[in-house]
Amino acid sequence: MNILSYSKALYTTWVYYSPDRTLFDSGECVATMLNNKVYAIKNIFLTHGHVDHISGLWALINTRNNAMGDRAKELNVYYPKNNKGIEDYIKFIKRVNSDLRFKLNFFPITPDDKIILRGKKRIEKYIRPFFVTHTQSEISFGYHIIEVRRKLKEEFRNLSQEEIAVLAKKYGSEYITRSYEKKVFTISGDTFLLSREEVKDSEIVFHECTFLDKRDRKYKNHASIEDIVSLIEGSNIKTLILYHISSRYGRSIEKLLEPYRNRLKEEGVDLYFVKPDRLFKL
Ligand SMILES: [Zn+2]
Ligand SMILES: [Zn+2]
Repeated sequence: MNILSYSKALYTTWVYYSPDRTLFDSGECVATMLNNKVYAIKNIFLTHGHVDHISGLWALINTRNNAMGDRAKELNVYYPKNNKGIEDYIKFIKRVNSDLRFKLNFFPITPDDKIILRGKKRIEKYIRPFFVTHTQSEISFGYHIIEVRRKLKEEFRNLSQEEIAVLAKKYGSEYITRSYEKKVFTISGDTFLLSREEVKDSEIVFHECTFLDKRDRKYKNHASIEDIVSLIEGSNIKTLILYHISSRYGRSIEKLLEPYRNRLKEEGVDLYFVKPDRLFKL
């Protein structure tokens, strides 16, 4: 199990990516449902300041402070710089938790930042925020988890395994390989729709899908399934996970998604969705 999520539009949203002990958003009930995993969280990335995405943060910090668990680990919270709502909320949290027993750090970030998840001498994995379009007044981010990988340089492609091994021994592996970056995970946050440039070549795309029928959308603040599927087609992604689904679709979600599931299958894309009122595990 690598991903845990609970999400229902308007009510609450959070996504826990366990390989990097990273939580995206922290809506209501996140501490209750993650239970003792709250101690495993190292980083929290907030997409924006709407209540359904941040209201569980205070509870999470409080639980981590008071329950039995490892308090030596610090917790880092990253959020879109200049987001007023989040800044006020942080001020409040700091004021009411002035005697925390673990180290809590808050970092305002911009799309120019690279937040390193792994690698000391050389970056192996990092997070890159990007702007998304949501409501006018709200500075909102989506996030990529990017892995820095290495592959054999073109000029050595025709060599045998033995010849490559000799070169690697003589000059080091950096000499025969070059690094490239791979998006392994992309999360949209709340948005009208991600751009093709952002989703392209990402292994897993977590896209908000408030509306399963475009006609239900009144404002251009949230995404609809029709638009998302058209975006994913031709974008070379492996897995699409829909979340932030409106609870109005109740039991008909699977049926409404069926035609899109078939379209995506032809593209080689696996489709999953976070059912409102159900803990999602993948
Ligand atoms: Zn929301
Ligand atoms: Zn929102």
